[in-house]
Amino acid sequence: MNDLLVLSAEDVTRLLSMDDCIGLMEATLASLAHGKAVLPLRTVIPLPGGAGWLYTMPAFAADPPALAVKLITIFPGNHGGPLPSHQGVLLLFDAENGRPAALIDATEVTALRTAAVSAVATRLLARSDATELALIGAGVQARTHLDALRRILPIRRVRVWSRDFAHAREFAERARALHDVEIEAVPDAGQAAVGADVICTVTGSRTPVLRGEWVKDGAHVNAVGASTPDAREVDSALAGRARIFVDQRDAALAEAGDILIPMREGVLPADFTPVEIGDVVTGRAPGRRAPAEVTLFKSLGLAVEDAACARLLFDRAQSAASARGDPTAETSG
Ligand code: NDP
Repeated sequence: MNDLLVLSAEDVTRLLSMDDCIGLMEATLASLAHGKAVLPLRTVIPLPGGAGWLYTMPAFAADPPALAVKLITIFPGNHGGPLPSHQGVLLLFDAENGRPAALIDATEVTALRTAAVSAVATRLLARSDATELALIGAGVQARTHLDALRRILPIRRVRVWSRDFAHAREFAERARALHDVEIEAVPDAGQAAVGADVICTVTGSRTPVLRGEWVKDGAHVNAVGASTPDAREVDSALAGRARIFVDQRDAALAEAGDILIPMREGVLPADFTPVEIGDVVTGRAPGRRAPAEVTLFKSLGLAVEDAACARLLFDRAQSAASARGDPTAETSG
């Protein structure tokens, strides 16, 4: 394993821009829709006492070949301190001979690819004249979602809410320095959501932080947090009112409380079948059908998204090393 390539968070940021990641995720979701991926459900180990979880996420993407596994821990208590709440590694194997090829920081890949996938869904589902964005949550995903969504929509005003108002204020201050838009921290989630064209729920909450009654006709919602059957960020009123899209149907029907709880309550039918966003990317299923329709994209995050990022990062790192005349750049992924 002498030639195992190691890529840090800084390497990931340098080698993969948000724009490129949005394009890559669109291609990856299309490839998944065409059956060109092997993707078992992830396994989750909860730690005693509820302090954290270890997720194992393996995948193979065929085009281009990417065989990888992401190991990621979630320790929500880290948020606000020196360590992020999500930390991990992504291991890429050579799909021709099984050799471990690269070990990549998964914290930054997760931050980027999740927002990029939401951007793909938002481009297909939100009204193209959307100017007002609500961020429910003010952590890492709020930061990358703001960056990603500003690239695909003419966002002019942003309202951000967080459980701790000081965090929302700090987020707004930092974001104003980076983005030339009006950004306001608000003390109430409803105040952020009411009137917004696009709403992203990006919290660690296990109970609804977004109510259907706050969501205006024509709005699009990305529900990104809550990834277990008994946790959710949006209430049943919203689930019952929206057209629901997911990243992968099998995962959603096994893991997404945002869908499973309304099914258990009878708000959604017992045989409810959400639309996969990849089918909208490929044109098999319609995206937004009417200006007043409310759309909801439930994101769980897929290992194939990480595998695709790993392969692209590996290829780009190899090309950069070759351009520098580095002899260790001769291996293939
Ligand atoms: P961070 O730890 O950086 O931020 C967490 C945010 O959630 C903060 O605004 C925090 O508020 C808020 N929060 C935490 N607990 C609660 C609660 N009980 N009620 C209300 N708000 C709460 O996390 P990330 O930004 O990295 O992740 C956000 C969510 O997205 C998480 O649920 C995470 O697991 C999920 N995620 C989903 C992915 C996907 O692919 N779908 C990928 C990666 C993450 P405050 O600071 O004010 O306390």
